[in-house]
Amino acid sequence: MCEVAGIGFGPSNLGLAVALAEHNDDAPTGDRIAAIFFEKQKRFGWHRDMLIDGATVQVSFLKDLVTMRKPSSEFSFLSYLHAKGRLVDFINHKSLFPSRVEFNDYLEWVAGHFPHLVDYDSEVVDVRPVPTGGRIRSLEVSVRTGGPHGELRVRRARSVVVATGLQPVLPPGVTASERIWHSDELLSRIQAMPGGRPRRVVVIGAGQSAAEAVEYVHRVFTHTEVCSVFARYGYSPADDSAFANRVFDPEAVDTYYGAREEVKRTLFGYHRNTNYSVVDVELIDELYRRSYQEKVNGHHRLRMLNLSRVVEARETASGVRVAVESLPTGEIDVLDADVVIYATGYREADVFGLLGEMGEYCLRDDQGRPRVTRDYRVETVDGVDCGIYLQGPTEHTHGISSGLLSTIAVRSAEITRSIAARASAAGRAPVADRLPSAKAGRNGERLIPGHAAAARHPPGELASSEVRAGLRQWLTEEGS
Ligand SMILES: Cc1cc2nc3c(=O)[nH]c(=O)nc-3n(C[C@H](O)[C@H](O)[C@H](O)COP(=O)(O)OP(=O)(O)OC[C@H]3O[C@@H](n4cnc5c(N)ncnc54)[C@H](O)[C@@H]3O)c2cc1C
Repeated sequence: MCEVAGIGFGPSNLGLAVALAEHNDDAPTGDRIAAIFFEKQKRFGWHRDMLIDGATVQVSFLKDLVTMRKPSSEFSFLSYLHAKGRLVDFINHKSLFPSRVEFNDYLEWVAGHFPHLVDYDSEVVDVRPVPTGGRIRSLEVSVRTGGPHGELRVRRARSVVVATGLQPVLPPGVTASERIWHSDELLSRIQAMPGGRPRRVVVIGAGQSAAEAVEYVHRVFTHTEVCSVFARYGYSPADDSAFANRVFDPEAVDTYYGAREEVKRTLFGYHRNTNYSVVDVELIDELYRRSYQEKVNGHHRLRMLNLSRVVEARETASGVRVAVESLPTGEIDVLDADVVIYATGYREADVFGLLGEMGEYCLRDDQGRPRVTRDYRVETVDGVDCGIYLQGPTEHTHGISSGLLSTIAVRSAEITRSIAARASAAGRAPVADRLPSAKAGRNGERLIPGHAAAARHPPGELASSEVRAGLRQWLTEEGS
């Protein structure tokens, strides 16, 4: 049994692992919080298939996992640079926006401090309530290890923190195949592409991922025609101006949370263009530059099919036949492509789908969305003592930064405080296994209460009575 089971181990729950570790290292033994995380990928990776060479993170590196809450943390991006011997070089680079490849490496570096807390290759498939004496005091988390046909096992926890990220969306009726991809799979699909170098690739969409896919395919396949199909007149720039950017500040969460529903909707509408269906202006400029250069050269490989939509994409023996309708004229242009990439965005995770039976104990608003308290906890019916926390699918309650990196540092600490306060109010002693600690090092030790002492004494030399007591408690805990 753990106090917390984290579902998903992307940046959000990695941020939580850090916040829990920093809490535990400062807290008296009795207030420490044990946690375990389940991640379905075989190893840590942040949108691995979109780690396009040259693409940058869209937030300042100062919005890493910790700095907004604790600038002196040893898990900051600056500490990472220092550890990697690149601090001076990064400073000379004069950029607030690292490449996505480097930011993924930073996240991996942080995750490397907590191997003992994470079960990789482990997908959570269900969460069930465990009734005890008429109340729900713990949850059973069903975890499948080793792929879709792998072994199913159950872990118990007093709270779960759901951070399963965004789900890629294909338009209705479209099914992914060897030749029809969502942009979320871009790099691995390109590597495994049938026939090697494509003659024509169609990319659908006008957001950042679409523009990145167009830029990348056009750059790496130097003889390929790339058709960018979208309904707008042109790509629209992301608003990252200073005042608008404040919508991602931690304080904006309070404002948004406290606002009336109609004000929330208006606010969201005003600032959609900071994140949705927009493209970094530098990337727009680069694509325009290439398009113009091709006009000068008289050799067009980059085609902008604006004011258009794909009405059909049918696989043939040798490719995909794509029917593109011009919105102003209704004319249909048929393109024979090797590959079609749908950069048609993402949606929030389906919380109730994941929670299974436990979802029936959760309260919903009039639109069927989870009701969420300010500390990111889903409201439940009476009699449930367990916490179900959400990191991500809270745009309707906490605002536009919910699915982004911006507030992870602060949000993780808010959730940690809430979990600690509830455990303490219930008079619960910390359970034994998997205590997050920044001091645990990278060796994957499983620490038991009195973990600092345990770390000093190798197995078989557990000297302190505190440690022995913890071990006894661990061995007698139910169901872990
Ligand atoms: C290509 C791309 C680029 C982005 N760039 C930025 C950016 O520059 N700045 C920004 O602020 N935001 C960006 N975002 C938004 C993105 O949501 C955040 O960067 C960040 O990934 C959110 O972290 P997360 O942990 O909530 O979700 P994710 O990173 O999606 O992590 C969720 C994890 O949960 C795992 N998982 C899912 N279901 C289960 C399950 N049932 N059991 C176990 N594990 C599960 C997944 O494998 C995944 O590792 C980007 C998104 C994309 C798609």
